[in-house]
Amino acid sequence: MTLKFIYQDITKMNVDAIVNAANTQLQGGSGVCGAIFKAAGWQKLQAECDQLAPIETGEAVVTSGGNLAASYIIHTAGPIYQKESKNASDLLAASYHNSLKKAVEKDCDSVAFPLISTGVYGFPQDEAVKIAVKTIRQFLLKNELTVYLVFFDEALFTKSQELFR
Ligand code: ADP
Repeated sequence: MTLKFIYQDITKMNVDAIVNAANTQLQGGSGVCGAIFKAAGWQKLQAECDQLAPIETGEAVVTSGGNLAASYIIHTAGPIYQKESKNASDLLAASYHNSLKKAVEKDCDSVAFPLISTGVYGFPQDEAVKIAVKTIRQFLLKNELTVYLVFFDEALFTKSQELFR
């Protein structure tokens, strides 16, 4: 099993698939989603997403990677923390798990995740990192895959590296 933490812009990752912290309508937006749409080619990616939308919170769907180095983009809608206060942790775990399943279905050897729901969706970051690590580690017990957890905040990256070393 391999889980690596990295401090990086996810659109620059040279992996088979990157995961997008999408919304249930799969509309290109702000944050990491906007960065991915911009780098992949907004119009073409939106057209692919429109064929697959809407999705449920916790679900994952796959499009091409467009102009990215990655072959695929796996779009998952993480929970909006305030809205899903009771189920938020389970839904966040489902987002990671279902995205990993899609990566395996597509024969990916490597996949990169942003910290789903930790931006405008308001999930507390430390807790979100714990759920991400637990869900990914569990999945890697039975699957051969290199998984990158991509941090965009250097302080959180350093702190998380120390916590999970
Ligand atoms: P959500 O709506 O799921 O909360 P956001 O895009 O608002 O999604 O934020 C999710 C996380 O992605 C945040 O921790 C944010 O710092 C991070 N992020 C934003 N841009 C990038 C990027 N280019 N590469 C990697 N992570 C990013």
